[in-house]
Amino acid sequence: MTNVQIEIPATLVDEKPVSITGCRHHFPLLHERVNGKPLIYLDNAATSQKPQIVIDTVIKYYQTENSNIHRGVHYLSEKATQAYEKARGKVQQFLHAAYREEIIFVRGTTEGINLVAQSYGRQNVKEGDEVLISAMEHHSNIVPWQILCEEKGATLCVIPMNDAGELVLDEYEKLLTARTKIVAITHVSNALGTVNPIKQMIASARKRSIPVLVDGAQAVPHMNVDVQDLECDFYVFSSHKVFGPTGVGVLYGRKRLLEAMPPYQGGGDMIKSVTFEKTVYNDLPYKFEAGTPNISGGIGLGAAIDYVNKLDLKAIGEYEHELLAYATEKLVKVPGVRIIGTAKEKAAVLSFVIEGIHPHDVGTILDAEGIAIRTGHHCAQPVMQRFGVPATARASFAFYNTKEEVDALINGVYKVKEILG
Ligand code: PMP
Repeated sequence: MTNVQIEIPATLVDEKPVSITGCRHHFPLLHERVNGKPLIYLDNAATSQKPQIVIDTVIKYYQTENSNIHRGVHYLSEKATQAYEKARGKVQQFLHAAYREEIIFVRGTTEGINLVAQSYGRQNVKEGDEVLISAMEHHSNIVPWQILCEEKGATLCVIPMNDAGELVLDEYEKLLTARTKIVAITHVSNALGTVNPIKQMIASARKRSIPVLVDGAQAVPHMNVDVQDLECDFYVFSSHKVFGPTGVGVLYGRKRLLEAMPPYQGGGDMIKSVTFEKTVYNDLPYKFEAGTPNISGGIGLGAAIDYVNKLDLKAIGEYEHELLAYATEKLVKVPGVRIIGTAKEKAAVLSFVIEGIHPHDVGTILDAEGIAIRTGHHCAQPVMQRFGVPATARASFAFYNTKEEVDALINGVYKVKEILG
């Protein structure tokens, strides 16, 4: 990459973005060049780019606030603690959670799911019970449950999907039985883009008093999420996919459930008192936050949430929907292209294969054009098996992408065909 000088305001905290497309200049990396071409970043489902305000917030933390939290009485420790806890409050509002204590900072979606599987799961799933997931889960919402089921002698059951990549809801209803101890489903599929009708699915599970965990990794960057309206029991997401730093994420859990759950990890901060005979655990949310957390990450996530709120997630969703429709319409016209994932409700993901050309070759040729897409199984190998492909090429959008970038992608796909077709 070559460095390009761009003007970025020192701080964008108070700037009210006028339009979504006017926000590109907030993202320094979007102005880089790759292989001599302007970068076209279409790998947002893997991770999103960061606005300057998030970068500035992390720098400012290390320059002016750096200290360990929840421990010191000194000035810096109190300042850092306040900033970190303020970020927790922002997450609470972002998810519309009823209580601050329901927001647990974790490393990311993966750790959030593992926490629930190891804590709630080990406590509540017994031999002969069932854990219900869906056919379109990311590996991080499969493997933790598999580990649990193997340990307990329980069975992992799978809600099937149709050829469009939509869950078969009649089958889901049949799979909800007295043996089902938890349902774990994705809100939006990272490999297909399908938006699942999770509100309806949660309601079905709740009628039978079965708790539901929702993997929101691909949902929170694209739509408003209200955990009270959804009535889910657990909701997890990663900061880095919603324009925040890596290495931090959130587990929302219903207070009543979290209170009854045993700790996931032991260590500092998660205790009230320790003797060699007995440890008294801390209150929520700290009971689940052993050790020094990712302080700068949590504060950076708070800045990312402020940023997204200024843009308005409803407007973001509408804009991205338009972009996806535009891209889909153009891509289906390319001879030999098959789109994987054609659900009626989709968000920001366009997975495809080109007849006779390996997806990795598609990715490599597009990279030479400065276009970053993802190729591979997207940590969803069962999805690839379901559609009979080893891998797909995946373009995934954020609100800072443009129709011109979609045009460049389509031209790139034609070029791939010209070279390899
Ligand atoms: N679930 C989904 C749907 C995802 O897209 C991802 C990231 N690709 C994850 C879970 C895992 O997220 P992380 O690696 O940030 O823990």
